[in-house]
Amino acid sequence: MRTLSQFSGRKAASGAVAAPEMSGDASKTLEEILRAAANEGASDVHFEPKEHGLLVRFRLDGEAREHRTVPVSLRDALLARGKIFGGMDITEKRLPQDGRAVMKEGEKRLHLRLSTLPTVYGESLVIRLLDQSMPNMSFEAMGMAPLQAAAVREALSGPAGLIFITGPTGSGKTTTLHSALHALDTKGKVVHTLEDPVEYEFPGIRQTEVREKIGLTFAASLRALLRQNPDIMLVGETRDGETAQLAIRGALTGHLVLSTLHTNDALAAIPRLRDLGVESFLLAAALRLVAAQRLVRKLCPECREVHPQNQRLCAEHGIPDAVFYRPHGCPACRSRGYRGRIAIHEVIPAAKFAAAIEANAPVAELAAIRDREGHLTLWQHGLAAAARGLTSIEEVARVL
Ligand SMILES: [Zn+2]
Repeated sequence: MRTLSQFSGRKAASGAVAAPEMSGDASKTLEEILRAAANEGASDVHFEPKEHGLLVRFRLDGEAREHRTVPVSLRDALLARGKIFGGMDITEKRLPQDGRAVMKEGEKRLHLRLSTLPTVYGESLVIRLLDQSMPNMSFEAMGMAPLQAAAVREALSGPAGLIFITGPTGSGKTTTLHSALHALDTKGKVVHTLEDPVEYEFPGIRQTEVREKIGLTFAASLRALLRQNPDIMLVGETRDGETAQLAIRGALTGHLVLSTLHTNDALAAIPRLRDLGVESFLLAAALRLVAAQRLVRKLCPECREVHPQNQRLCAEHGIPDAVFYRPHGCPACRSRGYRGRIAIHEVIPAAKFAAAIEANAPVAELAAIRDREGHLTLWQHGLAAAARGLTSIEEVARVL
C-alpha cells in the first residue's frame, strides 16, 4: 500500500505517462485535490474525463459538487498518477480496475479506495476516502431517538438472533453496524465480520474482505464462518437467498448476526426475506430487530431561517407548535445552507411482531402493529428532527 508522501516522490513507471515535468505537475495537482477533499470532509472524489479537461467533483454530505476542472494537458497524466497511486496497471485502460492507498492529512489517517472505469474520453477515476480516525459515534449522536437507541442496545445485548439495518446505498448502514460493534460487549467473545470492502479496522475483531471476483462471496464466506463458530457475526450485506438462509441458521444456532438489506423501510425487510426463500416460522424465531435508516443533511445553525410557510407546514403535519426552518447559505456552510448529516430511523423490535410474521401477515397488518406499539416511521422521525430545527421538511421529503 502506498502513502501519499511515497507517491509524490515516485517516478512514472512507464512511458505511457507524459513528459516528466508534466507528470510532476500531475502529481502535485492530484495531491492538492486529495488534501482539499480530506480537509473539506469529502467522502469521494470523482475525476471525470471530458473532451476539454478533467472535471473534479467532491461528494460532500452526499451531494456531488464541482471542485475544479484540470486542463486537458494534464488530464491523462493525472489519471495515470492516480492509477499508480492505487497500485493499478497503467497500461490497462480498457478494463475496470480497483486499488487502494493510504494518506495522512494532519491528524487524519485516510484509507483510499480507488476504481477506474473506461469512458468516451478516458477512464473515470473515483477515490473514496475512508477516515480511520472516525470517532466512535453513539446511536444518539447519529440521530437516533432515545427509545430507538435503547431498543437497539437491548437487541444487541441478547446472546443470539438476527438484527438488520435497511436502507438504500449511501444511507449510512455500514456506519450504524460499526457503531453497533462498538456498543457490543465483546469481552470473552469471538467477533468476525464479512465486509465488502473492509472500511474501518477494529482492534480485536477478525475482519474478512469479501471478494466476489474470486468466488469469495458473502454466502461462501458465511458458510465457512459458521463452521468456525464465532459468537457475533457481521455480514456486510444480505443480497441473495443463500446468505439470508445461512444468516437465519446462524441466528437460530446461538449466534448474534448483524447484517444489512436494501429495502425502503424496516417492515419491507420481512417480505424481502420471504422472497429470498426464508421460511416465515424461522424468520419469526430468529429476528430480533429491524431498523431502517436515511441520512439527511443538517441545517447550518449559523444561517437557517424560519420557514415562511411555517403555519401551513405545522397544520399539514399536525404539529401545533413547532417551528420549521429552511436553508439559507452563509460563509460557514459555503453557501450550501447545510453542514454535516444526521440519520433518521425507524426501529422495529421484532418480539411483538413474531406471531404476525409467522402467520405470513401482509405489511399493512405489520404496519398496524408498528403504529399501535408507537414506533416512529422514517417520516415521523424525520418530521421530529425537522421540528427540532436539525433539518428541513424538504430535506426529509427528498430522502424518502
Ligand atoms: Zn450557513
